[in-house]
Formats: sequence, structure tokens, C-alpha cells
Amino acid sequence: MAQPSARRATISSKSGVDGHPVKLRASNVSFYYGSFRALKDVSLGFAEGKITALIGPSGCGKSTLLYTFNRMYELTPGARVRGSIRLGHQEVTTMGNLQELRRRVGMVFQRPNPFHMSIYDNVAYGLRLMGASKALTDARVEESLRFAGLWDEVSDRLHRSAMSLSGGQQQRLCIARCIAVQPEVVLMDEPCSALDPISTMRVEELIRQLAGTYTVVIVTHNMQQAKRLADYTAFMLIEPFDRYGQLVEFAPTTEIFEDARDERTRDYVSGKFG
Ligand code: ADP
Ligand code: MG
Repeated sequence: MAQPSARRATISSKSGVDGHPVKLRASNVSFYYGSFRALKDVSLGFAEGKITALIGPSGCGKSTLLYTFNRMYELTPGARVRGSIRLGHQEVTTMGNLQELRRRVGMVFQRPNPFHMSIYDNVAYGLRLMGASKALTDARVEESLRFAGLWDEVSDRLHRSAMSLSGGQQQRLCIARCIAVQPEVVLMDEPCSALDPISTMRVEELIRQLAGTYTVVIVTHNMQQAKRLADYTAFMLIEPFDRYGQLVEFAPTTEIFEDARDERTRDYVSGKFG
């Protein structure tokens, strides 16, 4: 077995991930749906301004882990988290203001989910919740749609229903809606898996642009996508006896794919199972 090398992503509060500051950190996170433990003792840090991919077979708890970061699970009766999740210096699991948490930690889902309202109103939604002025809202709507590469496609029909857009445009609209409120972290749960290859390429370009400004955590089933996009990759797996999801290995993406330390990671990324 290979010795742990200095190149490995280290998770220490002093050095962060390979020296990068950590924006979001999970420490010994366990998660329960009623009596079923879906995650056990997951610890990892997400480097600020970087893209981290969560990979692993279906059911290993990737979405569940993502939902702990902005407490989406609170919509599920009986769901609860144990352990600590820190956003900067703040503890997420006990944060009082959920609306503010979800502004700071935005989310993009697998199926584009624009609201049944106009293109403009979709992007303005969070800004209005925050009480932003009309001028600020207008400016942010345009800025966000430009960032998402949508402005030229929709600027002449901002007040038409978002449902009139194609699937790929809808997903870019959802990303624009997410960044309009200037989050710190963007969570993405298989954001391209419902899209055709060309829309996927455009959304991937957009995700790449998010890096730097935002800390991105992306769940993907697509190994090539993880390789193309992610600075770091976390490989998760279902523990075979108690069936909980666990983190097997977390490292810079190139190491996960070319030089994984754990045999299970090597088998998964080479397509032996999954
Ligand atoms: P992944 O995203 O990696 O496919 P999930 O996080 O969706 O995995 O699911 C992890 C485990 O938790 C699975 O065993 C799944 O069946 C279970 N699970 C997910 N959502 C619920 C729920 N709302 N109630 C009960 N069990 C759930
Ligand atoms: Mg999932």
C-alpha cells in the first residue's frame, strides 16, 4: 500500500486543503433518516474558490451530504444530522437564520427547477426576499444573467415565463438565480444529468467560471465531468455491513483518478463497479 504522501489533500485547520483556506468544513458528520444511518463520520473541508466533486455509487449519500450544508434535509420528517458543519467560523447545524444560510449556501438541482414566473422574477426572487431596491435588483438580474451566458438570449423577453426556455437555458437560469444573491458556496446535485451534451458543455463552462468567486461542491455520476471540472474529489461508498455512506478518500482530482491510495477508489474510477 502506498505511503501517505505530502501531496495528499490535508484537512487541518491551520493549512486548509493543500494550503487553501477552507470555506466549508464537515467534521464527523453522521446523518439519519429516522433509524437509518445514511452517513457515518464524514469529515472533509472544501477549499475556498475551488471546485470539489463528490463521486460514488448511487445511494452512498452524496445528495444527503450536500443537503446537510444548507439544511435542506429539514424538509424531511425524521431526518437529523450529528457532528459539525462550519461555514467560515459559523456552525451551520445550529444557525438561527435559515433564509440567510440558504442565501450564503445556494443550491442547484438535477432537474432545472425554475419557478412558475417570469425569467426576470426568477432571478429577482431572492433579492426581493432580501429587500433589495428596484435599482439593485435590476442590476443584479442583468449581471447574473450575463454571467450565466443567458442575457443575449433572453434580454428581449425577460417578462416571459421561465418555462418557455429550453432545459439547458432553464438550468443556466437556475444558476443565475442562485448567484444573484451572492452566495459563498454553490451546491450542485448532478446539475447536468438531465441535459443534452451541448447544454452540458455550456453548463460546465459556467461551473468553471463560478470557481474563484464561489466555493463549488458538485455531485456527479460522470467521472469525465469530475476530471474536467474539479480541483478536489471525494469518493464515497456504502459500508457493506451497516449500509451507511462513508467517505473513502479525498484528494486532488488527479490523484483520485491516477494515483488513488485506496483500492476501492482505484476500482471505482477504473469502472470495476458503480
Ligand atoms: P446518493 O445521492 O449518493 O445516490 P442519497 O443521499 O440520495 O444517495 O441516499 C443515501 C441513502 O439514504 C440511500 O440509502 C437512500 O435510500 C436513503 N434516503 C435518501 N433520502 C431518504 C429519505 N427521504 N428517507 C429515507 N431514506 C432516504
Ligand atoms: Mg443523489
